[in-house]
This record gives sequence, C-alpha cells and structure tokens, in this order.
Amino acid sequence: MGQPPCTLLEVEMALDLLEGELAAELPAHMRAFARAHAEGRPPPPAPLLARLPSSLKTARQALAFDLVADRGIALLRLLVPLALEVGRTPPERTWDAYRTLAAARDQAARARFGHGAIELAAILHVGHVAEASEPRAIPFVDGWRVPDAAVDDEAIRDVWHLIASRLGVAGTVRIDRGAPGVTPRTFVVEPKAEAIVVLPAVIDTPRARTQVLHELGHAAAALLLPAGLPRAVDEAAAAFVARLAEPGSWLPPRWISELAPAARERRLAIAELLAAIERGYDGPLRPGTPPAALWEDPGAQSSYIAAEAIADRLAGQPLRHALATEADRVTWRACELLR
Ligand SMILES: [Zn+2]
Repeated sequence: MGQPPCTLLEVEMALDLLEGELAAELPAHMRAFARAHAEGRPPPPAPLLARLPSSLKTARQALAFDLVADRGIALLRLLVPLALEVGRTPPERTWDAYRTLAAARDQAARARFGHGAIELAAILHVGHVAEASEPRAIPFVDGWRVPDAAVDDEAIRDVWHLIASRLGVAGTVRIDRGAPGVTPRTFVVEPKAEAIVVLPAVIDTPRARTQVLHELGHAAAALLLPAGLPRAVDEAAAAFVARLAEPGSWLPPRWISELAPAARERRLAIAELLAAIERGYDGPLRPGTPPAALWEDPGAQSSYIAAEAIADRLAGQPLRHALATEADRVTWRACELLR
C-alpha cells in the first residue's frame, strides 16, 4: 500500500481512475442484472471494484475538497449500500427478524459512517433527514388492479417515443418483458446513453400501466443525467412521468385513468407509513408482516416521499435542467452533512 492520497490532485486522479473502471465494468453487470431480474433469478454479484475498501476511501476523501466533493457523493450512493450489506434475508419474514436486520444495518452504518443506516440513506439521497410524520390509514382504490385491455410492446414503444420527444430525451431504451409477476424495474446500462426497462409479461390494469410510465420516467432520468443521481430526484422523474396517467395529460386515452390521482395519494400514504416504521413506529397501522421494500430497499421511503414534492416543482421547465438543479441541491446538502 502506498501513501494515502491527500492533495486535491491526488484525489482527482484516484477519482478519475475509479470512475473510469466502474464505467467500464458496470454496463455488462447491469445487462446481466436486468436479465436475471426478468427471469426471476438472484442478481449477479456487484463488481469487485464497488466492494473494495479503497474505493470507499477514495469517495470519502473527495468530500474534503469542494471541487470534487459532488463526485464523492455520487460514488457513495453506489458504494454505501454494498458496504452495509449485513448478510442474507432470514427465511421467515417476521417483525422480530426485520428489527434484528435493521439493527444490524444501523450498527454497521454508525460504526463506519457515524450515522444510522436510514439516516445515511436520507442524507445521500434526499439531502436532509425529515421529521418522522405520524402515519395515516392507507386509502383503498377500488378498481385500480382490475384487468381491462392489455397494452402490447408496440403501444409501450409508442408511448416512450411520445414521452421522450416531449421531454427532450435522447438515447436507447430497451423494453424487456419478464415473467408474469416480475416487479417493473429500470436498469441504467450506461448513463446518458442506454437503459433497460424490465416489465411483466402482461400489462392490463390501470396500476400496471402507471407502473410502466413510472419506469419510463426512470429511463428518462437515466438518459438525461450522469451516474450517481440522488434517489429522491430519480424517483421524482418517475413520479412526474407516472402523473401522465392522471386526467388532463397529453398521453393517448388508454394510458389515462380517473383512479390515478387517488392511487398516487395511496402510494404516498404507504411510503409515509413505511418511512415511519423504518424510524421505529410500531403502532396499530403496521401491516401483519414486513413488506419486501423494508428488507430489500432500506431507506428508500424517504426518497419516495421527497420525490412527490420535487415532482411538483418539475412541471413547466425543461426536464434535464430541472432535474439537474434538484440533484445539485441534494448533493451539496449531503456534502455539508457528511463532512
Ligand atoms: Zn421508482
């Protein structure tokens, strides 16, 4: 091991090297990840480089220098979740098992970064840690999951081209149909160039069509902005495009549902409840078993909540510019909190 880098020039060189190697390795990894997700297989392991202590060290050293601190934060968004993996999900998804896992994640985060795991995710991806709100009852949206007419690949490609041209997005989006029950998910193969959107085999409910729009919003964000986007801003782009399912939008009628505004309210109420649970809420609104999001995506709920507020601010501006402004704001607040 050589001397640790300590000047701006040394940190910059280490960042260039790390970013370059990640940019070379991630496209193949993300393609394999997307394929595994579509086929319901476990994801491939992240590239070794993303797990090396030296990579994390480079990202953290960047925070000391104004000129490169934003690059350090962008890298931490990728590296921190890998550094905090604390073993496999237990076979029985009970609340006791969840609390044990959450405590282990928290302890690992405090030991390494001086913040709890949920707090650290909020700092990196929202730019601040919001007060935990009192959860409310989750509204039910009758008919949201009732099948009607299915949309085919051509209709999805058409709606993507319409969205991309209206929002000024260029680049390649591949639509991959997965198993019937697959969770819709977007994979950024190469930022500003290529994304893969994995969708279930059948899309025939208002909910499923809105999820397609949500993922196309993620694809738009991936093609508009560089790597390391804060989750709240990424989800805001997705929420912004998903809102095109609401009456009054410029999409073809088959994508629009009278139920969409109520469904948006329901999603926000769920995110608020799950965020409260992540912060220790243990009251009567807690569901019978912990939802998958709490196991697999710790700390994401604060981003979902912030995303709705950010999406309110995106309307009427060029999307790339509006998203970049929001991302910068989150990143600089995160720098201040992590220095
Ligand atoms: Zn999303």
